[in-house]
Amino acid sequence: MDKNRCMVCAKEGAFEGGICDLCKAIIRGEALEGQHQIKKDADKSLHKEGTEIERKRGG
Ligand SMILES: [Zn+2]
Repeated sequence: MDKNRCMVCAKEGAFEGGICDLCKAIIRGEALEGQHQIKKDADKSLHKEGTEIERKRGG
């Protein structure tokens, strides 16, 4: 059986798609981070509302 080489970190082994499991996880993590960015924006608008409610309470 021929060994492949990970096209990301150049580690030798048998990988599906030419990328080792570790690099696959990293690439997946990066993809997830992109989704987190969207979530952060949603949180921001929520926090804005939260501070406004607090102001009404305090004032
Ligand atoms: Zn790799």
